[in-house]
Amino acid sequence: MSNVVIVGGGAAGMAAAIAAAGIGHEVHLYEKNEKLGKKVYITGKGRCNVTNACDMETMLQNVVTNPRFLYSSFYGFTNQDIMDLLERNGCPLKTERGNRVFPVSDKSSDVISALSRQMRDLNVDVHLHSEVKDLLIEDGHCVGIRLKKNNTKVFADAVIVATGGMSYQATGSTGDGYDFAKECGHTVTELSPALVPFEAAEDDVRSLQGVSLRNIEAVIYDGKKELYREFGEMLFAHFGVSGPVLLSASSYVAKAIRKHPLKLVIDLKPALTEEQLDTRILRDFEGFLNKQFKNSLAHLLPSKMIPVVIARSGISPDKKVNEITKQERAALVSVLKRFQVTLTGLRDYKEAIITQGGISVKEINPTTMESKKVSGLYFAGEVLDLDAVTGGFNLQIAWSTGWAAGSHIEYC
Ligand SMILES: Cc1cc2nc3c(=O)[nH]c(=O)nc-3n(C[C@H](O)[C@H](O)[C@H](O)COP(=O)(O)OP(=O)(O)OC[C@H]3O[C@@H](n4cnc5c(N)ncnc54)[C@H](O)[C@@H]3O)c2cc1C
Repeated sequence: MSNVVIVGGGAAGMAAAIAAAGIGHEVHLYEKNEKLGKKVYITGKGRCNVTNACDMETMLQNVVTNPRFLYSSFYGFTNQDIMDLLERNGCPLKTERGNRVFPVSDKSSDVISALSRQMRDLNVDVHLHSEVKDLLIEDGHCVGIRLKKNNTKVFADAVIVATGGMSYQATGSTGDGYDFAKECGHTVTELSPALVPFEAAEDDVRSLQGVSLRNIEAVIYDGKKELYREFGEMLFAHFGVSGPVLLSASSYVAKAIRKHPLKLVIDLKPALTEEQLDTRILRDFEGFLNKQFKNSLAHLLPSKMIPVVIARSGISPDKKVNEITKQERAALVSVLKRFQVTLTGLRDYKEAIITQGGISVKEINPTTMESKKVSGLYFAGEVLDLDAVTGGFNLQIAWSTGWAAGSHIEYC
């Protein structure tokens, strides 16, 4: 049996604790908050999208950064394994659209309760209100931690750091693990908020605040180079653009947008070619022949978007519909098929679902999560340079890497 210290009682820390205690180690979990899993509590809008019930190939495809590193841990503790663990501990699950798995109760607190119950049954010693200040390293070996309170030293045979990323810092994830890692010689790759909305330059875009669009295609360009293309939903906000398609996009363009603004081109009518859209507009116009242009687009666009699209088309809003020329119609079609937005940057960590970047996985053993620089030291979860899109994949990263760390602690 070894004496194992885990830093951080989030998703990865709890999984690590269960794995390590399950194979007979003595486990002490240190969490700075007054309770476990504060971030897990707010996941999935309070419902907790626990994992994704897809196959392994799809799981890996949804990981944005360093999917190959996850091969071993994803197979070692799968989506089915976390589902079984939760259900065994009194949290029945259901699978929704897109294979997203949630508790039947729609309560994230039931996920935390199930994990807590399992930890209790395995005699994991949970220390709340216990902020870890730094790691104790001796001759390239991690021998324990120092608590902030009274600088108390706690010695251990192995330490697992599962302190999470930098987003939603009120949940306790304030990036401490990056400092711990740097202090013992690890590389931390450039950090960025991800799964986060974009800021936009144009005033007319910001005036669309509250408008949500269902079936659009979004394409993001860096100069002429296409970086991202996806169909789906988006919404406009007082600062720029958000919604599922753009949140996912942020994970793929975070690096590029740090250097300079990017161009977002929205196809508002992706199901129609330009010709089909022109025919559709002509048909709409026939129903509004003696009306002004500004009163002719109600079937095509949400009302708040109409003045913006009209202004961009260059057609006078007061012009009679039957006076609009073919050329003017072409300009309107062009705005609808290529509604351009200048993306100037990402919103802050406060609004980001995850942190992109983290401890370089080149310096971590992918099977055991042990540091290649310091023996007896393990890292798991979002603190590592790993991230995925939405759908339950980020929590699966936390469960799998936490489990890998906990289950590979050697016996002393
Ligand atoms: C709003 C929101 C919604 C999300 N929804 C989903 C979803 O539905 N599905 C999904 O898969 N992912 C979701 N995510 C992402 C997911 O929550 C994270 O990827 C996951 O929680 C990471 O787990 P972790 O254990 O690495 O870190 P965390 O869960 O952040 O846990 C880290 C823990 O370490 C503690 N800690 C930090 N520093 C110290 C220290 N010095 N001493 C002691 N303790 C410390 C923190 O207090 C915290 O409890 C969401 C994220 C957000 C912000």
